Amino acid sequence: MVPAKEDPFGRIRDGALAARWGRVVWIGEDRDLESQVTLDGDALDAAGACVIPGLVDAHTHPVFAGSRADEFAERVSGVAYRAQQSGERGIARTIRATREADVSTLLELAHDRTNRFLANGTTTIEAKTGYGLDLDNEAKSLEVLRKVAERTRLRVIPTFLGAHVVPPGVERRAYLRSVIDEMLPAFRPWAVFCDAWCEAPAFTADETRTLLTRAKALGYQIRVHAAQLAPGEGPDIAAELGARSADHLEFATPAQIKALAAAGTVAVLCPAANFTTHGPRPPIEAMRDAKLPMAIASDLNPGTSNSESLPMSMSLACVQWGMTPIEVLAGATVHAARSLQLEGLAGCLAPGSFADCAVLDTETPEAISYYVGVNRVIKTVAGGVVWRPS
Ligand SMILES: [Zn+2]
Repeated sequence: MVPAKEDPFGRIRDGALAARWGRVVWIGEDRDLESQVTLDGDALDAAGACVIPGLVDAHTHPVFAGSRADEFAERVSGVAYRAQQSGERGIARTIRATREADVSTLLELAHDRTNRFLANGTTTIEAKTGYGLDLDNEAKSLEVLRKVAERTRLRVIPTFLGAHVVPPGVERRAYLRSVIDEMLPAFRPWAVFCDAWCEAPAFTADETRTLLTRAKALGYQIRVHAAQLAPGEGPDIAAELGARSADHLEFATPAQIKALAAAGTVAVLCPAANFTTHGPRPPIEAMRDAKLPMAIASDLNPGTSNSESLPMSMSLACVQWGMTPIEVLAGATVHAARSLQLEGLAGCLAPGSFADCAVLDTETPEAISYYVGVNRVIKTVAGGVVWRPS
């Protein structure tokens, strides 16, 4: 995924790479390997399979307890996602289950999820809190993310999503004050990013702007859940604040897309959530025209996308939206890495990058999206080490 003269993705036929201490030190043609590198460690033969950079998932919600399988069944029978976001249902139900779970329970659940990410070729995830939604329970969620990062080969980049929704039973203004005055300063050491969901049923444009402006002043990098369910100012706020990502964007306007491209923001698209909620197609052509980088993410969450499979999301983006296999491969590697400020480190294979690879049993690297819902990842290498489930 490093542009070369003959190929924008720098494919190497009969390639090899060498890594030391988890970083790539050499990459090129197999026939040059032994003359250019002193080999003194373990060898891994990919036996002619395709080797791609480990996939990068730029939007996941892996810290939660409980199930909403019955709500999924209702939606299949015609109930709208939005209609489920009231009372003790929807996100409120996951908040309750997550608050009732202790750290070790949440850690076990998150750890199982990391195994499924790695099994499907993902080696880096952005991971949000957002089902605790008070000082103690958001702190607990961040603790789970720290601990799971220590236990797994998966790279886990933490995002504080206290502005997911206003939790049940709390007055709106009081909750916002608590996020801005207590949680944002307290969690700065533990989260790289701060995210907010800017639209009903979550936060208004004014609330989002106030909160994210404060987060930015404290040194957080910004992400925004924007224009997923209806048109709104979310994408404008992302552009104004120079957000690293604006996510979902089904209802973004051409002017907003241009503004995001000019701000250097990455569009993080979530095809599986769009698929299960029967959302409209995002304005892909306008994004292409504006040269807005499009990342593809799983959006793993218990409500709209209970899937750690980025290849499945890539297939959906091709089939449902007409993105090309090459576009979605770039979306799940280089563009996703850019949204996480990991350009040159993750989502590509080059000297200095992480030695993170997925080995594919496919005819070409981009054919990964052709195998719909079938895992063709035969090995995952993270930090130079072959991953095995733990
Ligand atoms: Zn999300």
